[in-house]
Amino acid sequence: MTVAHRPVEIAKVGEAAIRIRWEDGHEGSYTTRYLRGICQCAACVDEWTGEKRISMDSIPQDIRALKIAPVGQYGIHIDWSDGHTTGIYAFDLLRKMCPCSACLATPLAAL
Ligand SMILES: [Zn+2]
Ligand SMILES: [Zn+2]
Repeated sequence: MTVAHRPVEIAKVGEAAIRIRWEDGHEGSYTTRYLRGICQCAACVDEWTGEKRISMDSIPQDIRALKIAPVGQYGIHIDWSDGHTTGIYAFDLLRKMCPCSACLATPLAAL
């Protein structure tokens, strides 16, 4: 498995956001609610249909990342304050979902 993008720094920004700085110098800030919402684990996304099992409405406004830990060479694991501890975020997903204005303006196909 090749990883196109690797972060060089993952840091909490206060309680409500996490900033990721990438190897290529790119930087993006993800709100904790946004990150919780894009969780791809089997509890959050149906493995067969790809359908989301959680709605943004069900995510607490004050959701916090209690613990951020690396998973192998490809991603991070986040323990959430709402009791969700199976969240795994591949770097490729995080980069693809970067919410900064530059990325939002880039068609995903071009990444
Ligand atoms: Zn999940
Ligand atoms: Zn970006």
